[in-house]
Amino acid sequence: MNHFDYVNGELCAEDVPLSRIAAELGTPFYCYSTATLVRHYTVFRQALEKAGLDATICFALKANPNIAVVRTLAGLGAGADVVSEGELRRALAAGVPAGRIVFSGVGKTRRELELAVAKGIMQVNVESEPELRALSEVAAARGVRMPISLRVNPDVDAGTHAKITTGKKENKFGIEWTRAHEVYRIARELPGVEVVGIACHIGSQLTDVEPFRQAFSRVRDLVAILRADGFDIRRLDLGGGLGVPYDAATDLPPHPDDYAAAIAGSLGDLGCRIVLEPGRLLVGNAGVLVSRVVYVKEGATRSFAIVDAAMNDLMRPALYDAHHDIQPVAEPAAGAPRAEIDVVGPVCETGDTFARQRPLPPLAAGDLVAFRTAGAYGAAMSSTYNSRLLVPEVLVNGHGFAVVRARPTYEDMLALEALPDWLE
Ligand SMILES: *Cc1c(COP(=O)(O)O)cnc(C)c1O
Repeated sequence: MNHFDYVNGELCAEDVPLSRIAAELGTPFYCYSTATLVRHYTVFRQALEKAGLDATICFALKANPNIAVVRTLAGLGAGADVVSEGELRRALAAGVPAGRIVFSGVGKTRRELELAVAKGIMQVNVESEPELRALSEVAAARGVRMPISLRVNPDVDAGTHAKITTGKKENKFGIEWTRAHEVYRIARELPGVEVVGIACHIGSQLTDVEPFRQAFSRVRDLVAILRADGFDIRRLDLGGGLGVPYDAATDLPPHPDDYAAAIAGSLGDLGCRIVLEPGRLLVGNAGVLVSRVVYVKEGATRSFAIVDAAMNDLMRPALYDAHHDIQPVAEPAAGAPRAEIDVVGPVCETGDTFARQRPLPPLAAGDLVAFRTAGAYGAAMSSTYNSRLLVPEVLVNGHGFAVVRARPTYEDMLALEALPDWLE
């Protein structure tokens, strides 16, 4: 459920018509709904409670690192899953307590590990033996033992897009399932780390609980092996990955209740604290990208709606062939005819296409359209390709809204660059 609905013929975010924001700010812009963020977090937390799980929810910042979004979730009790120094600094700036921050990622630098140790975060999820040794050195130099989980790669097929599958043995993530015990034994001998658990994240946008069950069952086996060898395994970090409905007509991802029941069924009796790292699930449906039609062009074989947003603003269609529902901001008349149209951006790449042959009500230049389910991996993945300015972000709360990331100016953009003295 989300809070983007037509009210009096206008698509609104909660009680704010999107056209009002467009008039004030120009287009394109991202718009997030506080009520939707609160609702998603609450539904997820309640699902875990109903399943009787002792769980810590660490929002995966990479899905939407805007500090106003992170602060909204932190205010509800969320921790953070970070994958870089920048994300760690954002989480702290947004008010997430260090004791609820997990550091994931396959290539943490020494500098990043030092910051994690200095800030005293909850745990580092270690993804390789060299990283394990580096972290131990960094922590031991400060006279501390850093709590760690090893991220294991359970070699299961998440059944999602190849570019966001992470838990197969040929993927770069984690420590090979079959080598995990050996690496745990190495960890035990190192002075700067303390093994507290196991971590596992098999992919993103999963639309079936079965791959999760397979992974959990492998985690369970590993808990038994490690406990039998004297390890005090007390935390299980099960990553994120639960999918959201991008295509309202066809997508039916599992409800958080079913996901929580799968966790409880596989791992609930082990006496471990469960750590979860949902990203997309919390923010995906809580955001839209609003754009204006610049031209409608009749091509040789099809029509194109050329909009002022592009692949640099919302990369998912170009990168993953992802579907985003598209709605006119002005509600079409009941029974308005629909015609197939390609919705494209102005960037000089054929990949800059948001939808092909999408049945939509008639569009005209100047119309506003909303790309739905753009709150996750939307603004987060944006760039300035084609020297386009980063898109501003707006957070709505009831009747009010605030710009939570301003549109930069062209002067800002040019000021980041400099001419070397020989070119001046
Ligand atoms: C990307 C990622 C997540 C979040 O994934 P979602 O599909 O957005 O829930 C969680 N944990 C790790 C380690 C990740 O890389």
